[in-house]
Amino acid sequence: MHIRDVVTGALNLTPQHLNSSLLHQKSIVIDAHCDTLTAMEEQKRCLSVCTGIGQVDLIRLKRGGVNVQFFAVFISPEEKRSVLVRVREVIARFYREAAENTASIVPIFSYRSLVRGLAQGKIAAILAIEGGEVLGGNLEVLNSLYLMGVRSLTLTWNHRNELGDGIAVEQPGGLTKFGIAVVKEMNRLGMLVDVAHLAAPGFWDVLKISRQSIIASHANSHALCPHPRNLKDEQIKALAARGGVMGLTFYPPFIHLDRPSLEKLLDHVDYIANLAGVDCIGLGSDFDGINEVIPELSDVSRLPAFTRGLLARGYSKKAVKKILGGNLLRVLKTVLPP
Ligand SMILES: [Zn+2]
Repeated sequence: MHIRDVVTGALNLTPQHLNSSLLHQKSIVIDAHCDTLTAMEEQKRCLSVCTGIGQVDLIRLKRGGVNVQFFAVFISPEEKRSVLVRVREVIARFYREAAENTASIVPIFSYRSLVRGLAQGKIAAILAIEGGEVLGGNLEVLNSLYLMGVRSLTLTWNHRNELGDGIAVEQPGGLTKFGIAVVKEMNRLGMLVDVAHLAAPGFWDVLKISRQSIIASHANSHALCPHPRNLKDEQIKALAARGGVMGLTFYPPFIHLDRPSLEKLLDHVDYIANLAGVDCIGLGSDFDGINEVIPELSDVSRLPAFTRGLLARGYSKKAVKKILGGNLLRVLKTVLPP
């Protein structure tokens, strides 16, 4: 009896299950968005203990086969304290968690450090900020956040800020002069420009201005699910044409208006692949930032189900690897400092 038959028998797995989980393990899996830093605080938990609360912790990241995780710093518009004090508090939590778990996770600041982290079998953690309002209209703040290790910035959240207009703004405009300066400075520093939450005029401005490929860290197809946070066909095509990547998000209202499910999420993969090719597709779960989930992807440990679904739909191993993280890795390689 072959060892594989023993394993499949013991775990009651089909050969297809085993193939897909091997492929999942061998792939570099990148999740471009989670809100775990702030969720942990609200839920009074830490990264190393799996409490079953929330959707992301180290144990579940490992089970889910995640190799690179973006950790967003999100400051609620209702925050009463100074935004910068709050940002520093959340960033300090990121480094405290990393320092307490050096065997399993490592903050990365360059492509080289990312590769080194992966080679050591650690989860590479990328510090991101969701919402350019934290800059307070000051480019020096962007520079200081870069020095604090931030490597990705979502230019706006849903509302208007000093950079431009989010998707909730009525009759939105494009980027402001400051927004343009921020994109240029991010290109110079080696930071990922993230257009999730940005209204369409700003999106088009970013594509005009950015010298680097951009990401939409957590968004799906508007044609399949007409939520204002999802990207329209023309946006997806333009993002793809410039080498960008959109992280498919698992938030049910962005998947399907009536019956969100893993199959409906996979419909987004099919649709976007047909529209613009697989090279623009990545993952951006939004775990720990969402108050509802689809049962098949109820937390990050369930990610192998997504890989199984891709294989069942006939995607090649090469395409699956690109979608799971290869595409985002390509962008990280070109954008991050070497
Ligand atoms: Zn978001």
